Amino acid sequence: MNYQKILDEIYAEIQPELSYGKVADYIPALAEVEKKQFAMTLTLPDGTMYSVGDSQKRFSIQSISKVFTFTLALQLYSKELYNRVGVEPSGNAFNSLVQLEYENGIPRNPFINAGAIAITDSLISHYKDEYKTLEVIMQFIRDISCNPILSFDQIVAKSEMEYGDRNLALARLMKSFGNFENDVPKTVMMYCKHCAITMNTEELSRAMMFLAFGGTDPISKKTFISSSKAKRINAVMLTCGHYDASGEFAYHVGLPAKSGVGGGIVATVPGTMSIAVWSPALNKYGNSHAGTIALEKFTTKTGLSIF
Ligand code: GLN
Repeated sequence: MNYQKILDEIYAEIQPELSYGKVADYIPALAEVEKKQFAMTLTLPDGTMYSVGDSQKRFSIQSISKVFTFTLALQLYSKELYNRVGVEPSGNAFNSLVQLEYENGIPRNPFINAGAIAITDSLISHYKDEYKTLEVIMQFIRDISCNPILSFDQIVAKSEMEYGDRNLALARLMKSFGNFENDVPKTVMMYCKHCAITMNTEELSRAMMFLAFGGTDPISKKTFISSSKAKRINAVMLTCGHYDASGEFAYHVGLPAKSGVGGGIVATVPGTMSIAVWSPALNKYGNSHAGTIALEKFTTKTGLSIF
């Protein structure tokens, strides 16, 4: 298949879509990002990469980091993790408080904010302090992407924390139900820091290769997680990766994928490739407007979906 030609076609077709949607503004530092930007990269198991657009421009990966923290938690914990966080789609917005109250402080899944904060909390419990935890998360992302220079944006993390009342409320609510182990503000700050990691589509697509290939990166040959856990992470991406639009995303795109409010989306075509796309303007669910359409065009043009 001529992937470069397909990406070039998508790039041309997507241009009118870049006018739609709205960049995330509830994190003030993200509101400043120029809306009309687009990038897409795919990585094949022989290491070949194809890209279009601003594929070297870094952006805030936000909730995409939840895939990496969930992977780390699954490396450390097995079934006991599910006492703290479920694996069911929430059908609610990513930052909703309502369901958490009804369900006794147990978040539906690790990709909504409450679930991801509980995962961060479980990592801090294991590594005993939040700085060590951040170091482990950063090192893991550098390892899976074979890129030693990745880092996070202090300004974005601080900006999110300043306006982080909802995330603090989610954490406090979990604490009130006994589902929280560490200091609430310190844990939420750590969560904001891993959300503020900056990567471009080339780096993200590379980082997802181990999940596209059953836990083992086909390029470096390193195993990061067992194949059965990789299967589970892909399953949760498919069912929960786009919050209350996960069904719609599966319907239109048909790939395990995870979005972030920075406008990035990562997707796997299991056994074939990983894809990252970025366009900062979001639809009403907080998922990249043009990014979602670009992935739909990709699976339509190539026939590469899991269905
Ligand atoms: N850091 C963001 C938040 O907590 C992540 C949300 C997202 O990317 N959907 O609101």
